[in-house]
Amino acid sequence: MLHIGCHLSSAKGYLAMGETALTIGADTFQFFTRNPRGGSVKAFDLADAEALNALMKAHDFAPILAHAPYTLNACAADESIRDFARRTMREDLERLAHIPNAMLNFHPGSHVKQGAEKGIELICAMLDEVYTPDMPTTVLLETMAGKGSEVGRNFEELRAIIDTAKAGERLGVCLDTCHVHDGGYNIIEDLDGVLTQFDKIIGLNRLRAIHLNDSKNAMGARKDRHEKIGQGMIGMDAITRVINHPVLRELPFYLETPNELDGYAQEIRLLRGLYKE
Ligand code: FE
Ligand code: FE
Ligand code: ZN
Repeated sequence: MLHIGCHLSSAKGYLAMGETALTIGADTFQFFTRNPRGGSVKAFDLADAEALNALMKAHDFAPILAHAPYTLNACAADESIRDFARRTMREDLERLAHIPNAMLNFHPGSHVKQGAEKGIELICAMLDEVYTPDMPTTVLLETMAGKGSEVGRNFEELRAIIDTAKAGERLGVCLDTCHVHDGGYNIIEDLDGVLTQFDKIIGLNRLRAIHLNDSKNAMGARKDRHEKIGQGMIGMDAITRVINHPVLRELPFYLETPNELDGYAQEIRLLRGLYKE
């Protein structure tokens, strides 16, 4: 069975997201742990989290994905921004410990002219401080498009984080189809080759989730503008190959396409129809 969901608003709490996922034919979902462009966060509601846990168990949900806010930049030049990153990730991990079916995905960060090497050092310093052995959640690094000074624009940079962080052994990767396409990986004509490269550099055992998006831009554009499934430069055929690929097809897929709920429901229906059982 295709495990698929989409990004959902967390405004009404945890259980509400699980219920919404069910209404659109999803068996997983992604949500921001807090306001994506700010830092504000509601008080943690344990009963709500446990109600979601029960719903996920009853309906056989695939792992869900918590997405750290975009403002979390572990490799900022500014110490106060790095401090926000540390506090945010620590608090998110503490909360997610109560949702065993969740993984935490984050953008490695933007090194803002300090260079990727320095960026990687700062990202690992944050992970060493907050992703301690008592935090049970699997943390995922997201593959980035490489706009601006983003770290994680190629597989080698993610590998360097895995090699350097104390918790490197426990880190996974979330592959974003729009980002890797924009980053110059030819998933349209050579998906096998891209996955072979991923395996050689990172290891396919680390690949835990797929952000399934089409892209508004050409391969290598380093732009990061998501498009609806089948309506962008990646296109329906390549996306169909992605969801059916033998090494990807069992992974959970999360749509981050420009859609409201009904658009997501349509895409989920479409993709379920294209999945070869
Ligand atoms: Fe992301
Ligand atoms: Fe993404
Ligand atoms: Zn993106």
